[in-house]
Amino acid sequence: MERRDELAQSLAAVRERIAKACDAAGRSADEVTLVVVTKTHPASDVALLAELGVTDVGENRHPEAAGKHLAAVEAGVALRWHFVGGLQTNKAGAIARYADVVHSVDRAKLARSLDRGAQAAGRTLRCLVQVDFDTTDPGRAGVLPADVQALADVIAGECPHLELGGVMTVAPLGRDPAPSFAHLREISAELRHTTPSATMISAGMSEDFEVAIAHGATHVRVGRSVLGQRPVLQ
Ligand SMILES: *Cc1c(COP(=O)(O)O)cnc(C)c1O
Repeated sequence: MERRDELAQSLAAVRERIAKACDAAGRSADEVTLVVVTKTHPASDVALLAELGVTDVGENRHPEAAGKHLAAVEAGVALRWHFVGGLQTNKAGAIARYADVVHSVDRAKLARSLDRGAQAAGRTLRCLVQVDFDTTDPGRAGVLPADVQALADVIAGECPHLELGGVMTVAPLGRDPAPSFAHLREISAELRHTTPSATMISAGMSEDFEVAIAHGATHVRVGRSVLGQRPVLQ
């Protein structure tokens, strides 16, 4: 099968799953944005996805993301670019030049670097606070629920070139994701008391996006269900 047909088919299946999950949750399908995570897949796939009506793509590594963004711009393909991966402070300036939304902000130092990068690039960058609900693995990205407000205050209060967009999580591995997604929704509601515009709830991946939609996700980040298995990285 041609790659375009393959992507059209898997995309239709994912959109159908989103529509069903929205229906089951009593939500309208346009409340949920599909972010197709294109990491490890070529720029040609990004172009095909745009042709097929995808508006938002996600990447987790610089400079792979930068290269694909540039290829898209050169091909005249307009997309919103979401950076969803772990991020070193010294890459923040580069990422601020092409990302529209950074989902993985989990420390004040990173927020300040992104703010300086956005200023230098003459842009405003939307940032989400990444929340971690897995207390058994201290190596995971994300702030603990108790620390969300403090980081949100830094982004909203001290970083004029950042816009606090909301919250994001990656559900703990190998556990029922529902409690985490439910907790994320509560955190989001609290955050909107102080920052009403922070409406984004980025939650759910290929395996669990229906559960995330049931718990209020506004942005689902889907890779494998659209693009197929990723090649194993060396
Ligand atoms: C890779 C990735 C995804 C997509 O995962 P799939 O299981 O391929 O759907 C979502 N979010 C983040 C942060 C990722 O790194």
